[in-house]
Amino acid sequence: MMAMAFWPAWAAPLLNGAALLLALGFRRNRAVLVLAVLTAAALALAGTGSADPGERGVDAARMFAPWLLLAAVALPERGLLARRNLALLLLLATAVWLTLGASDRLWPGLRAALPLGVLPWSAGAVAAAVTFAGALLCLLRWVLSGVPMEAGLGIVLGLAGFAMLPGMDIGNTSRTLALAGASALLAVLFASYRMAFVDALSGLPNRRALDETLARLTGDYALAMVDVDHFKQFNDSHGHDAGDRVLQAVAGELRRERRGHAFRYGGEEFCLLFSGARSRDAVRMCDQTRRNVETMRVRIRSAPAKIRGGQAVKRKQDVETNVTVSIGVALRDADTRSVAEVLKGADEALYRAKSRGRNRVVSR
Ligand code: GH3
Ligand code: MG
Ligand code: MG
Repeated sequence: MMAMAFWPAWAAPLLNGAALLLALGFRRNRAVLVLAVLTAAALALAGTGSADPGERGVDAARMFAPWLLLAAVALPERGLLARRNLALLLLLATAVWLTLGASDRLWPGLRAALPLGVLPWSAGAVAAAVTFAGALLCLLRWVLSGVPMEAGLGIVLGLAGFAMLPGMDIGNTSRTLALAGASALLAVLFASYRMAFVDALSGLPNRRALDETLARLTGDYALAMVDVDHFKQFNDSHGHDAGDRVLQAVAGELRRERRGHAFRYGGEEFCLLFSGARSRDAVRMCDQTRRNVETMRVRIRSAPAKIRGGQAVKRKQDVETNVTVSIGVALRDADTRSVAEVLKGADEALYRAKSRGRNRVVSR
């Protein structure tokens, strides 16, 4: 019985605290602020025996946490020690200090005023509504930016909002906060995994992911090195942003090649990996991909830099454009065993594809 009672009470601060440390380690600063508030709220609840109004821990979590959470997600993500973040942490420290040390005369006045004493709703309903507003803000930002950490924070704040609903008893509140902490842990781990292994521009797995995949591969495979033709010139003619847009479109085309696995190797170079029996068909599949890229039309906002009177002037116009790619393919077989040899082979084949006029596939 003791263990059962103990576990839910301390799970919330433990999980939120662990997520806080992880977020600190990975410099996820918005998550750090959110989790600092949630850990403090979970600690306040863990020190409380019941959900009775008048228990300071429960009141404090409802009074202060929603505002601090809303501020944490509303602020643009900055360095942890940016002035506004420090101000928020100072407010959190003040909330903790008030919870622990405010006189019995001051506390009822605060309770009556917070979160929004003027509303006819119960304090719990207002607290939950403010926290849900923070969750919505994160989810909206996720829809607009696609950054997965924002979705994670949206879920975490959504759970925190549920934890504050007036009907919740103390057990359910701390279990829901524990769930919020566990979700935050997963969100920070997932965001860090993506940062390490997924290329931000194209959404494809990056070179580190390719290295790890190749190191694990046994048996035959074919590696195709894909390089956009005359891409420096493209950037010069249309601007770097248009170049980025085209790289995304090429990445999309490579991803469509379901029989191979696409990676962004770096810059304007990509890789397609064909493993097992598919490796024998790699050249044909690469040629199909090459033709798909050739016929693809990309709408860009062309912004060629024109020098006028010594100053760069950008004139933007919408145009449809296309690029081509050259592809070098190398097989891993009895003669070419090591990853380095295969990579070198693909690179040499690519070099030959370039020197033979580009927009073609050459195999070693
Ligand atoms: P080649 O046909 O021989 O491959 O010529 P190239 O101009 O494509 O080759 P080069 O290696 O000289 O130039 C590659 C260019 O790719 C240079 C760089 O500005 C551009 N580039 C690399 N990464 C990016 C990126 O992330 N975004 C944009 N817009 N351009 C990039
Ligand atoms: Mg290149
Ligand atoms: Mg190139």
